[in-house]
Amino acid sequence: MTELDLTGTDSVVHWTQRYSGAVMDTFGPPQRVLVRGEGCYVWDADGRRYLDLLGGIAVNALGHAHPTLTAAVSAQLGTIGHISNFFASPTQIALAERLIGLTGAPDGSRVFFANSGAEANEAAFKMARRNNDSGRRTRILALEGSFHGRTLGALAMTSKAAYREPFEPLPAGVEFLPFGDTAALEAAFADGETVAALVVEPIQGEVGVRAMPPGYLARARGLTAEHGALLVLDEVQSGMGRTGAWLASHRPEIGGGITPDVVTLAKALGGGIPIGAVVAYGERAATLLGRGQHGTTFGGNPVAAAAALATIGVIERDGLLAHVDRLGAAWREELAAAHPSITEVRGAGLLIAIEFAAPVAAQVAAQALSAGFIVNPCTPSTLRLAPPYLLTTEQAATFTAFLAALPHTLEASA
Ligand SMILES: *Cc1c(COP(=O)(O)O)cnc(C)c1O
Repeated sequence: MTELDLTGTDSVVHWTQRYSGAVMDTFGPPQRVLVRGEGCYVWDADGRRYLDLLGGIAVNALGHAHPTLTAAVSAQLGTIGHISNFFASPTQIALAERLIGLTGAPDGSRVFFANSGAEANEAAFKMARRNNDSGRRTRILALEGSFHGRTLGALAMTSKAAYREPFEPLPAGVEFLPFGDTAALEAAFADGETVAALVVEPIQGEVGVRAMPPGYLARARGLTAEHGALLVLDEVQSGMGRTGAWLASHRPEIGGGITPDVVTLAKALGGGIPIGAVVAYGERAATLLGRGQHGTTFGGNPVAAAAALATIGVIERDGLLAHVDRLGAAWREELAAAHPSITEVRGAGLLIAIEFAAPVAAQVAAQALSAGFIVNPCTPSTLRLAPPYLLTTEQAATFTAFLAALPHTLEASA
């Protein structure tokens, strides 16, 4: 275990040097090197403790080292850990059934398993390409502010220029519509028979936790249904209980009771074990990708499926959807009143953005880290929180108190 000696020279500084010597610099220098976690807390290589209010970016629904999840993963790995997709496992089949059940997908619905959010969206992109019997459906509509992942297909549907431009040309046919603009959506469907799919995050996460305005998804459903286009909801970040409902689009104020054609999931799905999924609603969507038209070696891996089943099981057993809903609502009110520079607190459940009057998010996040809180400055003026669903009222209150204790005038440092 010498590689993991946490004393002496194996400090944060030491590991950070080794990181930059061996790991590609796509993420920039790590803020800390973390060595263990328990519940909502993690510890760094210097032994300092942090309250994890980011949860591995909306992944660690059950926090860290959850005994039920650990036991389920260990038991599955000790029984059968991987098989090819020439075979199936009961775990994979049971998870597909669970996902169809909890998303409320109708009879005839099917699931495709992937390993990440980007891959789930790649599969949805390929489904959109197959939704083209006439040969004229070449357009895919996405929204400004969207984030769908870093692989080329997912990137083609992601609006941020800095992510896209270094990798052009991207797969063709994607058009971006202004966020939440129903008139623009209607205009884009003026020749609706050319649209293969509309891809929407019910709550845009990366751009600062922005929910679709009420009525937008209902109009989107109406237009796509009328013109034979797929409505694809990217719930990679907002799904699997994050908002206090299994899907953000199940929340009446966001989804308005619509049934989409496709939902993509990942992040919290496996509680920390990599897994993504595409739920295709109903027979038509479920058969767009035919035999041999898509695949992945690890998709449906029994260990990942066992992790997802265990995560879903604990969320149900412990009533975590209701907890996330109640705690999130109460905490957002407290956060909004915590500091005079906070202009708005947005979100649903435990997907929360704190908006500041000035571009101070990075410096508040750095101060928070020093004070023992992990948060994410997702825009210059926005902090994002996506903590474990197990977060307690008392733990949440410690961060509110941290914000309240900041100097009353926060100014952006140069
Ligand atoms: C994180 C995210 C993705 C990409 O998921 P990866 O697992 O990082 O590939 C896609 N869509 C949304 C909405 C996300 O938040």
